[in-house]
Amino acid sequence: MVRHSSRIELSQSSLTNNINFIRKKVGKDVRISSVVKANAYGHGIAQFVKMAERAGVNHFATASAFEAEEVLEVKSEATDVMIMGILYDEDIEWAIQHGIEFYVFNYERLPVVLEKAQKLGIQAKVHIEVETGANRTGMNAREFPDTLAFLKKNHAHVAFKGLCTHFGGAESFSNQFKITAQQGRFKEFVKICEKKRVIPEIRHIACSAAALAYPDTVYDMVRMGVAQYGFWPSPDIYYMHMQAGEAKGNGSLKRLFTWKTDVMDVRDVDAGEFIGYGTAYQATQDMKVAVLPLGYSNGYPRGQSNRGFVLIKGKKAPIIGLINMNLFMVDISHISNVEVGDEVVLVGRQQNNTINISSFTQLTQLLNNEMLSRLPSAIPRRIVK
Ligand SMILES: *Cc1c(COP(=O)(O)O)cnc(C)c1O
Repeated sequence: MVRHSSRIELSQSSLTNNINFIRKKVGKDVRISSVVKANAYGHGIAQFVKMAERAGVNHFATASAFEAEEVLEVKSEATDVMIMGILYDEDIEWAIQHGIEFYVFNYERLPVVLEKAQKLGIQAKVHIEVETGANRTGMNAREFPDTLAFLKKNHAHVAFKGLCTHFGGAESFSNQFKITAQQGRFKEFVKICEKKRVIPEIRHIACSAAALAYPDTVYDMVRMGVAQYGFWPSPDIYYMHMQAGEAKGNGSLKRLFTWKTDVMDVRDVDAGEFIGYGTAYQATQDMKVAVLPLGYSNGYPRGQSNRGFVLIKGKKAPIIGLINMNLFMVDISHISNVEVGDEVVLVGRQQNNTINISSFTQLTQLLNNEMLSRLPSAIPRRIVK
């Protein structure tokens, strides 16, 4: 049985290009941690981890233990996994047992980790996340001296794997004052470590935007999310890249994602008839219409109603009427010989035309990340060249 009405293709060569591009930017001695939260930003965690490993990545970061488990299922032996977000007490043992690194952002968690590590006889690997100005997770400076003392004393059971923080808005130049302040505070934490002689194995603070725009935020590792998928974190970062003249010769980022479906039905609609629910669209002339077998329950944003486009035979076909739960219609009056079963590109390239995810953003205010991360994990993902 065919269980899905759309499919996603992921280009290995584009990902390899992106990882090489990032590696060139950050330098070959800096480790790249591939951020694969939210089902690898909708790309599909299982497929993406394999692809990234082929491109030379051997570190993955997730937002949760259950995502880390998905990485664990497909990763190769030598690859490391790091949980940056939610890890429940009952899963700490599991993480330690599987050698998974995880963030600790308050002091009280440390004795809990110690107890489990002692019980298992396996050293836990923790990254201490410190508060520098984003005020989400991150340990206060007040708790930091006790934390260092604890790590020094219990090193046999709890390894000080990393010292890290996260920028709140590195993609906008208007936030530069905040980013600079955050980096300043991070340096204070680094200094305290040096003074107390409790040194983390690695330091890492840069996300995609910081790694691409602020070279001095690149420490021992960068946590790359959006850029590895081929998206510039923001127009600011893209223009900066263009301005530096690096677009020439040094390459650029490429999207790896194509989302496809096929024509489910083709029909003629007479002038004056309404198409789909309600009166959202009335045919102004006799029209040819293609029906597509997916809708908002399959991840296609309802905000595209009467506004978006798809590609059929390399031509843009405008969406007419509302996006339904499992169907929507497009105008193909100007495209000849469309037949049931013809390939439809929802996102990506077909012949000489492209539909970018950012066009959805313009129409519906959806963020690239939001749109991608909402794509149902049930859509099959296939790796292509
Ligand atoms: C999501 C996330 C990243 C990656 O961010 P991008 O902007 O997509 O590169 C890095 N670090 C942390 C802590 C994150 O939550």
